Amino acid sequence: MYAHPFSYHRAKSLAEASKLLRQLGEESRVLAGGQSLIPLMKMRLARPTALVDINFVSGLGDIQSHNGELRLGALARHTDIEMSEAAAAIPILHDCAAGIADVQVRNQGTIGGSLAEADPGGDWGATLLTLETSLECAGSQEERSIKLEDFIKDAYTTVLAHDELVRGIIVKKPPRSSGGAYLAFKRSAPVYATASAAVQLTLDGKDICKDIRVVLGCVGLTAIRAKRAEDELRGTADYKRALVAALVKRALGIAVRRARGERVEAGHEYVGR
Ligand SMILES: Cc1cc2nc3c(=O)[nH]c(=O)nc-3n(C[C@H](O)[C@H](O)[C@H](O)COP(=O)(O)OP(=O)(O)OC[C@H]3O[C@@H](n4cnc5c(N)ncnc54)[C@H](O)[C@@H]3O)c2cc1C
Repeated sequence: MYAHPFSYHRAKSLAEASKLLRQLGEESRVLAGGQSLIPLMKMRLARPTALVDINFVSGLGDIQSHNGELRLGALARHTDIEMSEAAAAIPILHDCAAGIADVQVRNQGTIGGSLAEADPGGDWGATLLTLETSLECAGSQEERSIKLEDFIKDAYTTVLAHDELVRGIIVKKPPRSSGGAYLAFKRSAPVYATASAAVQLTLDGKDICKDIRVVLGCVGLTAIRAKRAEDELRGTADYKRALVAALVKRALGIAVRRARGERVEAGHEYVGR
């Protein structure tokens, strides 16, 4: 199916993008990697009248480490994060980035777009909530910094105003004795996870856990009830409960080993593997 007609506008700065969004009205939308928006437009589940493309705003995809913080530009692609040496200092970020969908989606999709989309099946929300994460947001008002826990209000809903954009994501680096892991269980690569678990913990000495965050993904989705499809595609509530408990247990084990300095490979897991 073809998308509903729309006009296309290329912004050279976030200030220009914000101005365009204001001028073009409530039915205009930001275009980042297009990996959520374009499929929705092609299915006519989204019908924006105008797209404001931010892919030509320079510097928006940078990933930098500074003063104990990692700054991910809103346009950092999942692949950029997967390959980034700066991001590798926080292994849970690599677990997440490397497992999102398939390589095509990872090459285009952006972290800013993922968080702005607030899809309850998205991997970044669960992963980043285990860390101290905030978003730099720019619009017609003064720039503001919003904690991730305050940014996502509901499924597909954030606190962003219509003319407000995500500029960057700031992640505070966990201390040395901290380890984390993100495990997501998937039917196959190009689909969202059935359930996921993200754990970040900090050890005091070798065996005492002094700080921990555990976040579960894809288990709070209020979907349209299609019972048979639900059972087959996402699993029953009982199945998800058992799955997520197993994922948390495994993620905890990996997080502890990483906190003790061990290198452990982890990430998305697929049915039948
Ligand atoms: C086949 C397929 C499988 C996928 N599987 C997964 C998966 O397993 N896990 C996962 O996490 N994701 C998955 N995705 C989604 C993918 O990660 C997308 O990249 C992501 O959801 C949206 O990022 P984007 O840059 O493509 O945003 P876009 O599609 O361009 O935009 C998404 C929304 O965010 C808004 N937006 C974008 N950037 C900004 C910004 N900087 N400021 C304000 N608003 C903005 C747009 O207006 C739009 O409303 C999948 C996508 C596809 C097509």
